[in-house]
Amino acid sequence: MRDYDVIAAGGGIGGLVAAGLLSSAGLKVLLLEKEKRAGGYVTGFRRNGFYFDATGAFVPACGPDGELTEILKDIGTYKQIEFLPIQTIWNIYPDFDLKIEYTNPWAYLDEIKTLFPEYRLAVKSYEKLTRRFGMEFLGFEQAPWWKKILLPIFFSTLFRCARKSHAEILNKFFHGDPHLTLALSDLPTTLPPSQLSYAFVGVLWAKVLGGGVFYPKGGMSSLSDALVSGIVNNGGEIRYEKEVTRIITNKKQATGVLLSDNSKIMAEWVIADINPFEGEKMLPGNSPLFGYRRPLAKYKPSLSALLFYLAVPAGYLPSDWPYFISIHTSRDIEAMSAALERGSMGDGLHIVITTPSIMDSALAPSGYHAIKVLVRAPRTDLFEKEYGSDPALDQLQGQIFSTIKSFTGLDITSNALFVERATPMTLLRRTGNEAGAMYGLDAACNQVGPFRPPNRTVLDNLLWVGHYTHPAHGIVGSAMSGRFAAKIVLKNTKK
Ligand SMILES: Cc1cc2nc3c(=O)[nH]c(=O)nc-3n(C[C@H](O)[C@H](O)[C@H](O)COP(=O)(O)OP(=O)(O)OC[C@H]3O[C@@H](n4cnc5c(N)ncnc54)[C@H](O)[C@@H]3O)c2cc1C
Repeated sequence: MRDYDVIAAGGGIGGLVAAGLLSSAGLKVLLLEKEKRAGGYVTGFRRNGFYFDATGAFVPACGPDGELTEILKDIGTYKQIEFLPIQTIWNIYPDFDLKIEYTNPWAYLDEIKTLFPEYRLAVKSYEKLTRRFGMEFLGFEQAPWWKKILLPIFFSTLFRCARKSHAEILNKFFHGDPHLTLALSDLPTTLPPSQLSYAFVGVLWAKVLGGGVFYPKGGMSSLSDALVSGIVNNGGEIRYEKEVTRIITNKKQATGVLLSDNSKIMAEWVIADINPFEGEKMLPGNSPLFGYRRPLAKYKPSLSALLFYLAVPAGYLPSDWPYFISIHTSRDIEAMSAALERGSMGDGLHIVITTPSIMDSALAPSGYHAIKVLVRAPRTDLFEKEYGSDPALDQLQGQIFSTIKSFTGLDITSNALFVERATPMTLLRRTGNEAGAMYGLDAACNQVGPFRPPNRTVLDNLLWVGHYTHPAHGIVGSAMSGRFAAKIVLKNTKK
């Protein structure tokens, strides 16, 4: 006997979107979330009258034609959120900086042309190739099968560049120039150019960043809150503090879930938005989730993050302080990434400072600002070994704050009203992400497109969503995985 048409296990963006779309299509849906609230990484919290985003800083693809806009409209919650365009960003590197209007993301490349006139033509060619690649990718998605078979003819750029790393393309145009490499690598990924898939970069520009980046009024948690109310308004049910421990199966089909309190809930479909490395242990006999030809062991989770949440009097920020600041302290992004992989934050830092109260003044008491500092960090095991004790973490915090002071002038140590922090271990504890992985699986050449774990699993009626699966990481990637899963369910369900 089944209790629901669909159980969504895990209320990250992927699970929320799948549950929202399926409840809006009239299915009987239950979402199970192990925490007290849904959203996964996309949540926020209040401290002393200040609002803080737990992790993320921006939402792409929510302009008029954006993928996320379409999803929110289908769920019926688009009007619930106001997306504020992020206007100015400040990227700071050891030898130069770029402060630009970001409403048209391609303006970023114009700024680089102005700063490095000797590379003007090369940047133009990079832009042309990247635009063409992105357009061909989008065209390929819509193309009839016969055009897809003739890939080298109809999609020649896609054919030539799909397997290349970003470094191969950067080297072709800029011959390893460290300035251009740095400026063109400030992307939402923890991978250095030598490992980052150029396909990801092309699609990111064409499909994701191309429409601008936004901040949801009320904070990033407004997005999860809107998805939660979409599920509820469409008749779906959400149960919090319910941890799924096993997937119940009958022969080769998922038929329900077992919870940590030993209760069983049965459904025709199970859609899991859970770390698949853990998910695999929930299957009978720990069978491989995506089949023997795709063992999870061959996939590498992304790096993690260390976060600081703090408040300062508004007078301590310069009047032109933008919402988004990215600081790279090293000229060698490859060496920095290699050090992070080894567990050390000593070979350079990537710091992102966001000040949400600049986007929405209601997020801090009048006369103050709420600031989040995000620093790319090793995964939990190595982070804990190196920075696990309070003195080591305090020392690292001091080093990060003095770096921020020297690059931006903001003296957090002397002026912050309070500072709280979240480590990779906090990320792991709250969401169950593998070793605190920030992006699930990052966009390495062998982890994108057809190489990425699919939404279908080895079991019938068990689908997997979230940032470890097709199509990509990030809020939009996870949301789209939820949409793909919902489409599979609707195609195979008579209602
Ligand atoms: C520091 C940081 C900054 C980021 N910045 C951005 C950004 O600015 N823009 C952007 O687009 N992306 C950003 N990302 C990435 C983005 O937030 C994620 O890729 C995306 O939100 C992942 O969604 P998901 O569906 O995979 O779910 P997750 O966020 O991984 O959530 C999974 C959910 O499932 C629940 N769960 C897990 N196991 C169980 C279980 N057994 N039973 C029940 N429930 C369970 C968890 O509690 C959690 O709520 C950032 C990530 C981090 C960490």
